[in-house]
Amino acid sequence: MPSIEKHADISKQRTGKTYQQVHEWIDDPQYKEERHDITRVLEFSQMFREKYGEEAAREYVQHLADDLSGKFNHLVEDVQVLVDKTLAYFGAKK
Ligand SMILES: [Zn+2]
Repeated sequence: MPSIEKHADISKQRTGKTYQQVHEWIDDPQYKEERHDITRVLEFSQMFREKYGEEAAREYVQHLADDLSGKFNHLVEDVQVLVDKTLAYFGAKK
């Protein structure tokens, strides 16, 4: 998953604002798991909408999406390494 700084950079590129406080809230180590709970997305996005506006609510949802795609990218990279190692073990070349 991207770091808070990386999330802030992505928000800055996307919206012109870092939404640092949104990303720090989501990735707070003490509450990280419950704040990434997809079943609470309506509740938390409403909270951000009231606190910082519509764009902040969207950046909260985007944070979750970016975490997810980060995980899948890792998975794909890890599987590729495994495939390469296995092919090398059996003497196959790519
Ligand atoms: Zn996160």
